[in-house]
Amino acid sequence: MRLMRNAAATARREETLDPEDWATLKALSHRIVDDSVAYLRDIHERPSWRPMPEDVKAFFTGPMPRKPQELDRIYRDVTEKLMPYPMGNNHPRFWSWYMGAGNYTGALGDFLAAIQGSNLGGGNHAAALLDQQVVNWCKEIVGFPVSASGTLTNGGSEANLLALTVARNVKAGVDIREHGIAAIEKPLRFYASDQVHSCHRKAVETLGLGNRALRRIPTNKDFTIDITALRQAIAKDRAKGFKPACLIATAGTVNTGAIDDLHALADLAQAEDLWFHVDGCIGALMAIAPENAYRVSGLERAQSLAFDPHKGLHAPFEAGCVLFKNAAAHRAAFAVTPEYLETMPRGLAAGAWLHEYGLQTSRGFRALKIWLALREHGIEKFGRLIDQAIAQAQYLSRRIAQEPRLELLSPATINILCFRYRPAQAKTADALKGLNIEIMLRLQEQGIATLSDTTINGQHCLRVAISNHRTRTSDLDLLLSELLRVGAELTS
Ligand SMILES: *Cc1c(COP(=O)(O)O)cnc(C)c1O
Repeated sequence: MRLMRNAAATARREETLDPEDWATLKALSHRIVDDSVAYLRDIHERPSWRPMPEDVKAFFTGPMPRKPQELDRIYRDVTEKLMPYPMGNNHPRFWSWYMGAGNYTGALGDFLAAIQGSNLGGGNHAAALLDQQVVNWCKEIVGFPVSASGTLTNGGSEANLLALTVARNVKAGVDIREHGIAAIEKPLRFYASDQVHSCHRKAVETLGLGNRALRRIPTNKDFTIDITALRQAIAKDRAKGFKPACLIATAGTVNTGAIDDLHALADLAQAEDLWFHVDGCIGALMAIAPENAYRVSGLERAQSLAFDPHKGLHAPFEAGCVLFKNAAAHRAAFAVTPEYLETMPRGLAAGAWLHEYGLQTSRGFRALKIWLALREHGIEKFGRLIDQAIAQAQYLSRRIAQEPRLELLSPATINILCFRYRPAQAKTADALKGLNIEIMLRLQEQGIATLSDTTINGQHCLRVAISNHRTRTSDLDLLLSELLRVGAELTS
């Protein structure tokens, strides 16, 4: 019986995912590279976005494949059904929300990272060293000391979550990892402006502190946090028996790009014994932009800082980063060494366990795409590109201010501005909102430009965020002429 089973096992053909015919796969790979180069090279000629036809939508509801299919055939589906319908953030006229525009070298980095295949959970291998080198470069970019600690994350949301976790644990006054939030004596309070990114709400909720623990402080006319109001809120909370624990400054808000007064907040955090965190997902990288670096002075005083290489460094998604001045506090929040992850004196397990610095155990090799592009271009070019984007936004801002049919609601101080189409015949707020949404949607659907919208001071507006190295001034001129054309069509 036993013998028979062994025989059956030998008779079974052993399988692998490697191809039987490497030459065919190689030829297809070359074609994919050729197509990819053309895809990015000719991106200016394609629409900024296009709606998907019904058959394309239906295609993605097809059944799970049970049997093999020809890779050639599958790639044809990719070229026909996937590649023509991107989000479009790589396109020169994509200015929605706040993203990066990717880069070809970064894409090669993702490919090579997958081929080399290392898991960045840790270990004694080159990818782990490269990952740490990129984290060290990140410290240098924002003026943190080499003794600081940090990790690459999947984005700014995770970076902020990790930072707020450390802040909570340090300020809890109890061993929160062991006893949980129920053991906290005085409920913790975190502070940020009412312009704070929504990921902080998710973070305090996830951390078990609850949405109300995040106090939204009113903002000044320029959308920076009102420091007098902040002081009062802290004092009031203390009087009520809460424990003010953490101050979150935003260096570049999503709505308008406002940068809180970092030095004043650093001083206040120190005086009030609060953890000082800076959400620099939009603005931190301005530290390398010669003409605008002064705007984020004070960043280096943060105890923790979150920023986003997949925004300002245009790393293909995903790549975020969080840094901590207090390396021990960072590790103390996440380190767990189970019996199967003991460090060895030699061999593969002799390296640092990088999973001790965040939530992921297995982690992708996202450092390579950043490393390649930084080496290819040098950090100075990325700084100049940030200055360029800000100059472009300021140009657009000036042109909008000169155009009687457009109303500027928040001029570009950095690379974000808000405005609306406002025809002479006065309209109600609702009608104006409807009109502007329709303009935005038509610009998207006609493949002209991708804008988003928001509401500031209770007023609905269109929003342009230029974090795009492919944008040219002529693209902005086109936006204006087309926007006025569509506006006129809709109001005639
Ligand atoms: C983009 C952004 C985030 C979230 O970052 P993701 O990379 O999208 O997770 C957080 N804060 C600010 C200010 C942002 O602009």
